[in-house]
Amino acid sequence: MINNEMMALGKKSSVIREIFEYAKKRKAEIGADNVFDFSIGNPSIPAPARINETMKDLIDNKDPVALHGYTSAQGDMGVRSTIAASIKRRFGVDATADYIYMTCGAAASLTITLNALLNAGDEVIVLAPFFPEYKVFIGKAGGVAKVVPCREEDFQIDFHKLSAAISEKTKAIIVNSPNNPTGVVMSKETIKSLAQLLDEKQKEFGSDIYIIADEPYRELVYGGVEVPYIPCFYDNTVVCYSYSKSLSLPGERIGYVFVNPTLKDSRDVFAAVCGAGRALGFVCAPSLLQYTIGECIDEVSDVSIYDKNRRLLVETLSSYGYKTARPDGAFYLFMKALESDAYAFCERAKKYELLLVPSDDFGFPGYVRIAYCVTTEQIERALPSFKKLYEDYEENK
Ligand code: PLP
Repeated sequence: MINNEMMALGKKSSVIREIFEYAKKRKAEIGADNVFDFSIGNPSIPAPARINETMKDLIDNKDPVALHGYTSAQGDMGVRSTIAASIKRRFGVDATADYIYMTCGAAASLTITLNALLNAGDEVIVLAPFFPEYKVFIGKAGGVAKVVPCREEDFQIDFHKLSAAISEKTKAIIVNSPNNPTGVVMSKETIKSLAQLLDEKQKEFGSDIYIIADEPYRELVYGGVEVPYIPCFYDNTVVCYSYSKSLSLPGERIGYVFVNPTLKDSRDVFAAVCGAGRALGFVCAPSLLQYTIGECIDEVSDVSIYDKNRRLLVETLSSYGYKTARPDGAFYLFMKALESDAYAFCERAKKYELLLVPSDDFGFPGYVRIAYCVTTEQIERALPSFKKLYEDYEENK
């Protein structure tokens, strides 16, 4: 008998994937330009040119045995030192290579961290709306996800609800800022209040409560908004980072876990991260990508197109009458559906060839996610459809 839970997981594709597949079919039927697919968070800008140049240079000039060989399990020492120096330079945190574990992207960073921290039955708080895979990762690490909704007016943390949800069983809280699906950036006040609350709760329960900072969108922010670096505010923090979105490298699978050195028993926690990496078969992240990151540590993507898309969408959709969360980061817009059932709203949007993702799987019903990592032309062509959809609801109230 095989594992039924895994089989069920494998058979059920995510709602995002279902819409993405529908988009492909529909494009074949009526032409790609007539379908407005806002379903998937695949970066639409190319990786910085230096990434490709560095990869070519490494292939042409680095000893091929070393280039394609195993690095140490936690990643190449030189690359980890470069990343640690960059963390220190940018955020003033005393990072060293001894606290960095190279991974295959944020998904691996999260599963490794959860497996390193959790014992069976431990609770992990997830703030809704959330990245749906959290529940899968937490469950497989033996934990229990406890969902705490954010405040609807600004999608910052609702501290009354959070305080009530924390118990002696709470092992961690996942904080994803800039956020998928809302695009909201947690403010400094929010992070400070969170640190204060967790400090109080740690004392009350005599336990360690970790913040798992899931940060694949850290560099995707607009209008000069600052993304607080959580280790600066709270010692018991583990950062799960990925270059998937910041450098448009999602298919290359590269990221890291950073255990804050001031975290309690940080050496042991880092050992547990190494152990989890080993137990999950995640040792030695792709070496070509590790070396590339080591050479391109200061590279940034030009996110001006995302910013342009964001402004165009927010301004025009608001002028039609739609309500959205304030999107300061990532490349998602979280928009209130025009009826309480977001699935029904998405079905009606399909009539106008608008492919949107209902928010139910993000744990916050009644909204849709619009991934605006698309061409600006697609948005321009889609806007009349958004207008017609709004009018459709006005006429059929
Ligand atoms: N966390 C969040 C919030 C995400 O949106 C994603 C991907 O979309 C991931 C983690 C996984 O990222 P990666 O592709 O680097 O594994």
